[in-house]
Amino acid sequence: MCGGSAFKAAREDSNEQKKYDETGLVVSSCKHCVVPYAINMFKGESWTHTAFMHNEAMKSNAKFFCYDVVCQYWKWMKTKVARHFPEYRNLTSEMTGILPIMHKNAHQLPCKILWNPRWTTGMGLTGGEEHEQVFSKLYLYAYVLKHMAKHSNRASYYRNDFLTLAILYWNWDKAVSEILNDTHTIKTEHFLENYEREYKRLDVYAVN
Ligand SMILES: [Zn+2]
Ligand SMILES: [Zn+2]
Repeated sequence: MCGGSAFKAAREDSNEQKKYDETGLVVSSCKHCVVPYAINMFKGESWTHTAFMHNEAMKSNAKFFCYDVVCQYWKWMKTKVARHFPEYRNLTSEMTGILPIMHKNAHQLPCKILWNPRWTTGMGLTGGEEHEQVFSKLYLYAYVLKHMAKHSNRASYYRNDFLTLAILYWNWDKAVSEILNDTHTIKTEHFLENYEREYKRLDVYAVN
């Protein structure tokens, strides 16, 4: 079985941990560790979350989609989703799926060959593990977030706003370091759109 027991793999309709309000976050990241989207999870991690991220990546003209169990997800997207919803066919036909270079080691030999980032044209030396840096940073916030109210009491930000600001702060730091290093690899729309959208939303809370 791909993914093994070492890595927690999502399933199509995972429904664990029912006793919690929110069970976690699904976070996507580009190879520069800028976070375009995060989803609040109310059940277990599922491929529908992944599909949302995949679709957004497609819309921003991404060519590669990296996921821990991409071998199974790709098959689901191609045979189950795209068959019934042809508008999503381009997700698999125009993009290339890859396994993160370390996670691939938990897969069977055919997966290690077929979804290997090192053997994928156009990938360069990108290993597909970059998002782990984002995750390791965001895990730290769990200690404060779990004590915060879900809804705003108007005196303070609540959980979602705190997280949004934390992610925007992270994105800004990544963008600034790219500019300072003069690498200019980040597309400005990556974070500028995020900023406008989220700050507008947060302003609404401030006014009310
Ligand atoms: Zn596999
Ligand atoms: Zn990027």
